[in-house]
Amino acid sequence: MDFISNAEATECIIPIYLRPMNSTPFTLAIHGGAGTILQSTMTAEKEQAYTSALHAALQSGTRLLESGGTALDAVTAAVESLENCPLFNAGKGSVFTHDGRHEMDASIMTGHNLASGSVAGVTGIRNPIRLARAVMEQSEHVLLAGKGAESFARSILVPFEEEAYFHDAFRHAQWQQALLDDKVVLDHTEKKFGTVGAVARDVHGHLAAATSTGGMTNKKWGRIGDSPIVGAGTYANDATCAISCTGHGEFFIQSVVAYDISCLMEYKGLTLQEACEEVVMKKLVERGGEGGLIAVDGRGNVCLPFNSDGMYRAWHAGNQSHVAIYK
Ligand code: ASP
Repeated sequence: MDFISNAEATECIIPIYLRPMNSTPFTLAIHGGAGTILQSTMTAEKEQAYTSALHAALQSGTRLLESGGTALDAVTAAVESLENCPLFNAGKGSVFTHDGRHEMDASIMTGHNLASGSVAGVTGIRNPIRLARAVMEQSEHVLLAGKGAESFARSILVPFEEEAYFHDAFRHAQWQQALLDDKVVLDHTEKKFGTVGAVARDVHGHLAAATSTGGMTNKKWGRIGDSPIVGAGTYANDATCAISCTGHGEFFIQSVVAYDISCLMEYKGLTLQEACEEVVMKKLVERGGEGGLIAVDGRGNVCLPFNSDGMYRAWHAGNQSHVAIYK
């Protein structure tokens, strides 16, 4: 489990105008899914492609945070960047449903006021995270699904794409195989969860979290995962932490993973690292729930636990950026 303590932590109580110019009292972490990601089965080109995509997404968020931008804008930008990359199971790279469509889920939450917005089972939306944010900011609701969410998207001119935009030869082959096996598969046939997400703490001390996914290959009957469910796949509260999850959604919903970590911090006084360890490495493992998450706390500490072989991840903390894939 990666844990990065924020050496600048005390800065959160120093007014921004008194901070040294070179300080970076902001933190950003992103993920592109967890699962059976082994160096032994990875080609150098593929590894390079994932690393560059993660780096670009991280940069799109840190650029905003550096200039005093909000955690909300940073997580939106980072997730949007990952949604536009076909390597990840979100937006453009979303997996196929049983009916050969792409049904996407996304959510976003801000820690200072516990505001949130989610969409579930939406089709044709170029950037579901933008629509989730619009639900939060421009509707009186917190979760819109399917056709209704798409009507809302049209009413506020959120960009749509034709089916061809989401078509990917690899995902198509993956779906054909899943149809043959009559199985519902998590992203790659070799158990990889390609959901994307971002969490951030900005220079104002506020937290935000965002998650976006195409869900599971060959999913049926309007199946919805944990990603758009506040408290399960996504959560943010300035008093505790911001979390974005990836993994077998059914387990993450039943274990209320993101909120459980926040509760352990709030009610039991656990540190971010202790709470993550308890939930991801113990409770989820005991239930057979494979996956991981990214987390940041109010002091800018970052934790990126996963109980699978690997997790595509990157973070910027203490003035440095890192990208990692394997254990
Ligand atoms: N958590 C997502 C879901 O169950 C899958 C993933 O993380 O890739 O929909």
